[in-house]
Amino acid sequence: MLSLDARSTLLTMSSENPAVMTVDSGETVRIQTLDCFSNTVTSEQDLFSSVGWGHVNPATGPIFINDASPGDTLQIEILEIEVDDEGTMTTHPDLGLLPGTVEERTRKIPIVDGYVKFDDCYSFKIHPMIGVIGTAPKGDAIPTGTPFDHGGNMDTKEISAGSTLYLPVEVSGGLLALGDVHAAMGDGEVAVCGLEIPAHVILKINLLKGRPVPTPFLVTESKAISIASRESLFDAVQESTRMMRDFLVKETRLDATEATMLLSLRGDTRISQVVDPLMTARMEVPRDLFAAYEYAGAVEL
Ligand code: CA
Ligand code: CA
Repeated sequence: MLSLDARSTLLTMSSENPAVMTVDSGETVRIQTLDCFSNTVTSEQDLFSSVGWGHVNPATGPIFINDASPGDTLQIEILEIEVDDEGTMTTHPDLGLLPGTVEERTRKIPIVDGYVKFDDCYSFKIHPMIGVIGTAPKGDAIPTGTPFDHGGNMDTKEISAGSTLYLPVEVSGGLLALGDVHAAMGDGEVAVCGLEIPAHVILKINLLKGRPVPTPFLVTESKAISIASRESLFDAVQESTRMMRDFLVKETRLDATEATMLLSLRGDTRISQVVDPLMTARMEVPRDLFAAYEYAGAVEL
């Protein structure tokens, strides 16, 4: 297995970033990620305002995938997410969904035997997920804190071990980068942080020619999920719905009206996050819907 440490991180996804690793399609890589504060919040005395935006949301990479050309797709199998034994949360009165009502505060929260020990009253099972994962966009550089069509800061809790993520290749080599792992996060991420934590992520990276699924797209054990990030939550919901509906029409024998009816019955609109520069929503569909209507696409569903 190849290994990439976090000595080289970036704060923008850009075609200009020099690759720090080159892999062939089909290779498995173990990638070290810093937490979203570049591991600079070392105690509960370190507050968010002391971190500085120049250290927020570092992504490890980028990784150049041989033969990846614009118009192709990366199929990224998330095999494992190993998190450290302590996570960090910070709050700030200017940040989050309830501004002016919280104090600036830092909490260091231990992970004990696979459980988040929030305090003496409450523990719950960890659900490690990748907050930032994306490729380089074809146009202007995009900060790692922003989600968009290239992926980026999608903060989608289903981007977790056992899932397969599909991202677009928009520049030569794709230039994959990732970071901002959370040991746990609720949909919405209302305080602007999950349980931020350093991690090692094991990915198998496959190159698919063309665009067999709309991107970003995620396949879990039981669901197919389209993900969209837009300025308004409504637009993100609408776009993720359109992506899934058009995909059903293209790859099954459903027409647009039937597919829309079925999305209304079996599709779940979910909010991924509402606190980043663009809002992220997703449309989740049970995978058995595809088989029922003679799905013939190139990606296993
Ligand atoms: Ca994030
Ligand atoms: Ca985060």
